[in-house]
Amino acid sequence: MKRYLVGNLKMNPVSFEQAEGYLKAFGKEMSGKDLKGTETIVAPPSVYLERFGRSLPVGVSLAAQDVFWEEEGSYTGQVSPCMLRDLRVGFVLVGHSERRLYAHETDAEVGWKVRASLKEDLRPILCVGETAEDREQGGVVAAVSGQVTEAFRDVSSAEAEKVIIAYEPRWAIGTDRTPETDEILEARAVIRQAISVLYGPETADRIPILYGGSVKVPLLEKVCFAPSMDGVLVGRESLQPHELAMMSEIIDAYRPDAQK
Ligand code: PEP
Repeated sequence: MKRYLVGNLKMNPVSFEQAEGYLKAFGKEMSGKDLKGTETIVAPPSVYLERFGRSLPVGVSLAAQDVFWEEEGSYTGQVSPCMLRDLRVGFVLVGHSERRLYAHETDAEVGWKVRASLKEDLRPILCVGETAEDREQGGVVAAVSGQVTEAFRDVSSAEAEKVIIAYEPRWAIGTDRTPETDEILEARAVIRQAISVLYGPETADRIPILYGGSVKVPLLEKVCFAPSMDGVLVGRESLQPHELAMMSEIIDAYRPDAQK
């Protein structure tokens, strides 16, 4: 299966000038790289989507950080899937933990966003993950499988295969704490099982599952390769064009059999 590297710039850079600088530096870092087995995707704030769409390096795709579930109308502040399509956006983060936390996004709303995105041919990058309390209370399976099940409600199996899932334990995002490899493996199994129940094991095998939460180059073995993840979702570290480009190269070059 293809691997994925998603860079979520969050609410950065803070000016158009800095955004230009980022694009220039990232373009330089990616130039000459021919990463056929890895899809590199960058998600800037919505105000920069049009600018990034024109200037991202060849082979790098554009994602939005959020989307609304309606197509048009009286929804002040929202951006619809068809508007994103027009900006050459191919992917959209849905249910990011910071949206669940600060915008109080519910599992049901996340599901509406998944369906609205698919309808407009945008590939959702569905973020799921337990809180620290869930983990302390033994609630990882219930939290993660519940989020997955709700997000795929009323999604056909053909459409389900367009979704990318990012396992992002909320306590690992922005904290410089990461789960152990075994814990990521367990979460991966929980997600796969939840998808299998809905669509069967073959469809489950075709849906990429990424890890996200405080990823840095030296952690790729622990959080991506060892637990056999299909890639990573990177937040703060993606603000360093050099680090993001290096990750794309390392992920693309990784050959599981060669490491054994
Ligand atoms: C994220 O924004 O999804 C994320 C994983 O952030 P960070 O890498 O900064 O923890």
